[in-house]
Amino acid sequence: MTTLAFCPACGATAERAAPFQCADCSTWHYANPRPCAGALVERDGRVLLLKRAFEPWLGHWDIPGGFCEDGEHPADGARREVREETGLDIELVGLLGMWMDTYLDDDPPITTLNVYYLGRPIDDRELTIDTDEASAFEWFGPDDPVEPIGFPTHFPGVLDAWRAIRSGAQPQVLPYDERFPTDTR
Ligand SMILES: [Zn+2]
Repeated sequence: MTTLAFCPACGATAERAAPFQCADCSTWHYANPRPCAGALVERDGRVLLLKRAFEPWLGHWDIPGGFCEDGEHPADGARREVREETGLDIELVGLLGMWMDTYLDDDPPITTLNVYYLGRPIDDRELTIDTDEASAFEWFGPDDPVEPIGFPTHFPGVLDAWRAIRSGAQPQVLPYDERFPTDTR
């Protein structure tokens, strides 16, 4: 929960948790989760994970992804983040689900809404990781242990969703933009 000590609009003492309306200047203040998007990139039955090169979760395995830009559909955000972090162009073949989490390194911590897709590289090119973002990469099979794992609040659930699809226990859901094409730009 985000508590504001002062009204950012007029500076009046607030000490209130958003949402609230400033008693002095009547400005409304909101606090909403930040949308994030990522993709489990699958090749030959294995998925690509990156070892984080920065905090939070430095040195832990992570799924390629990041914060959505303003007005960006999460599907576009997932493809963009994968391209930036790995050099791979992917097509999205499934929606794995959405998970809430907290990004603890921000003060105050922010909540995130994380949308994850299943994707596949569109060609056979080798990947080139952005060393500002990741120190290593590896392709993991469904039974390979992922240690140490970053973002433990939601990451294991994303892997489980992928394993469930792979084992046939759960039907694959098409990505939203394939079923309901939209153009918000
Ligand atoms: Zn105010």
